[in-house]
Amino acid sequence: MDQLYAPSTIKQIREKYGFKLSKSLGQNFLADKNIIDKIIEGSLIGDNDLVIEIGPGIGVLTKAAAFKAKKVIAIEIDKQLLPILAETLSGHDNIEIINKDILKTDFGELISNNPGYQAVRIIGNLPYYITTPIIMKVLEEHVAADSMTIMLQREVADRIKAKPSTKDYGALTVAIQYYCTVETVTSVPKEVFIPRPNVDSTVIRLSINKEKPVELQSESLFFQTIKAGFGQRRKTLLNSLTGLNSLTKEEVLQVLKAADIDPIRRAETLSIQEFANLSNQFFNFISVPIIFN
Ligand code: SAM
Repeated sequence: MDQLYAPSTIKQIREKYGFKLSKSLGQNFLADKNIIDKIIEGSLIGDNDLVIEIGPGIGVLTKAAAFKAKKVIAIEIDKQLLPILAETLSGHDNIEIINKDILKTDFGELISNNPGYQAVRIIGNLPYYITTPIIMKVLEEHVAADSMTIMLQREVADRIKAKPSTKDYGALTVAIQYYCTVETVTSVPKEVFIPRPNVDSTVIRLSINKEKPVELQSESLFFQTIKAGFGQRRKTLLNSLTGLNSLTKEEVLQVLKAADIDPIRRAETLSIQEFANLSNQFFNFISVPIIFN
């Protein structure tokens, strides 16, 4: 077999194993050494780290990560790829392949069954059909990982990195920037994939914050506020938030005033700090006991 990342390798694998690329599983394989190197470098993998890879495909990132990490666990849903990975990754004794759907994988259990590593680094060229659910699963489950270095559609990466008052800024931006510090590793043209997707990609590193950037009275109320605000993003906050926790327009007006936020502003203009202030005022408002005369 040629170098694993060489375009001719996928052809050889298809012929040898009768392997059929699955569009519905988002199988766009990386065939560019330079990009593979950049992803691995951007992942900040140390000698004593555990790497969890999402969707190894034929193993191009898996192999490169195995040279850097103490152990690599790669989770792949497609059974067809198992004998292929056994061949392409033979000779590495620090790789474990798990045949499972990543969305049904218990990251907490995986990490607690593999203790003692200096850092846990999640990496992956994500299957595009479930990019956001994968990221949100890791973050919402408070998985004990240090970073996620992932390739995703440029349009989604732009939304994750967005600043307030831009068209890309939304609920996803605020949620991810609450949990993580976001950095761009590299942009990736569609020409480096086999088969070629319709869109360009970006590799980003999400360093999971040990200390949250804002103080919250209630994390769930913070996310409810974001969801309600962006659920009707063309509306003023006064209108989009009315009904949240059954509050009336008058009550929402009081909460917005207490948070020092102009009620005619829209959700897309609020910083994460302002969303935090707002949800904390909501919390105070709904926690105040009602006194009957
Ligand atoms: N890492 C390889 C590369 O860069 O060439 C493959 C990347 S490809 C974009 C996505 C991989 O994720 C495929 O191997 C696909 O079979 C796998 N995959 C798709 N859905 C999955 C799921 N729900 N759980 C685990 N793996 C999945």
